[in-house]
Amino acid sequence: MSGETQPQHHWQGVLSSALDAVGHTPLVRLQRIAKEEGLNCNLLGKCEFFSAGGSVKDRIANRMVEQAEKKGVLIPGQSIIIEPTSKLDLALPLFCPSAHKCINLGGNTGIGLALACAIKGYQCIITLPAKMSLEKEVMLRALGAEIVRTPTEAAWDSSESHIGVARKLQKSIPGGVILDQYSNPHNPLAHYYGTYEEIMHSLKTSDLPRKDISLLVAGAGTGGTITGLGRAIRDYEASLPHTNGNSASHGRTTIIAVDPEGSILGGGEPGNYQVEGIGYDFFPEVLDPNPPVVDKWLKTNDEEAFDATKRLIRKEGLFVGGSSGSALSGTLRYLHSEEGKHIAEDPNANVVVILPDGVRNYMSKSWFLETSKLPTGENMEEKEDIKSTIRGILGRDLNDVMSVVDSKREKGEKLENGD
Ligand code: PMP
Repeated sequence: MSGETQPQHHWQGVLSSALDAVGHTPLVRLQRIAKEEGLNCNLLGKCEFFSAGGSVKDRIANRMVEQAEKKGVLIPGQSIIIEPTSKLDLALPLFCPSAHKCINLGGNTGIGLALACAIKGYQCIITLPAKMSLEKEVMLRALGAEIVRTPTEAAWDSSESHIGVARKLQKSIPGGVILDQYSNPHNPLAHYYGTYEEIMHSLKTSDLPRKDISLLVAGAGTGGTITGLGRAIRDYEASLPHTNGNSASHGRTTIIAVDPEGSILGGGEPGNYQVEGIGYDFFPEVLDPNPPVVDKWLKTNDEEAFDATKRLIRKEGLFVGGSSGSALSGTLRYLHSEEGKHIAEDPNANVVVILPDGVRNYMSKSWFLETSKLPTGENMEEKEDIKSTIRGILGRDLNDVMSVVDSKREKGEKLENGD
């Protein structure tokens, strides 16, 4: 890792721009969930929604821009960054009968790039299919990006898809640059140097008895996060003297990648799923899916992912998005398995789960709005009790505003300030 500027970890003094607030995210104990699950290990969440642009992709956007500037590929005042970004998973079976032609991009890289462009003064064009989540589009527009909508139906390799249109624009617009997170080595390197160092710094400066990672779990989309972190961990282990990666103070880290049912990365057939940002129906170039980098793949489904997401919000107060729930549900399944039991039972073991983005991106999604099902660990009776107490006091249902208005009207009373 020589030759790299180490991340500063702490926000000291005054930052020169929001880009200095990219990364440096906190590692937070998930104590209440660990207790509910009967885990003795230290269950820790790396909370990426604290990053300036709101996701794990901010670091890669920043690094890809910085490195392209260094190489002279991006020239301030002249270059225009073009990013095809999208979310097609919902549309997959409907619009992509040939599943291998579908593509599932998170949109968070677009936000990270648009943020860097806003601050550095580059123009930014984002091409995205008509179906892409409104929240992400609104963020991109607010950052000044030009949005070009493309037909959702277009297969990813057609000239009318968001990728086809981005390529067409790049060819025709002087100074147009596509940084391409799928093949750009600075995607995993942003995690190798950034995310990994941050985690180690958090552990080293903590009061936890051990400062190493026993288990690392991350969802995989492009695979940049798991690959960068996995390589950094293995390089560190290889650098330890006489240990083969094992010593009293540092055991070999188990590294688990999580992808959804319906993605082929961890095996299985392509299909439909709602969790955004993880899983693909092709293997991105930057992903290193095999040991020693990734020891194991776990598949998760939407139901368990969204349940775990709501649990993270409800029990830990962490406003995370759906792929965080995928990572947590995979982690819990592993820790309860025969294979993971020794980690779950070890009070000195540190389990690090990457929580890639925040619920800001998904506020209008039905899985988030739906209230009929409480997350695991939530007590329905307790909720009903407090509701009936409130009902008893007010003499009406909690949301029944109309009965208040009607009764006032009937009595000829006004409903005004000071009422
Ligand atoms: N979760 C979300 C919400 C994402 O946007 C992404 C990026 N696609 C990931 C997880 C996975 O990150 P990576 O691309 O580094 O595998």
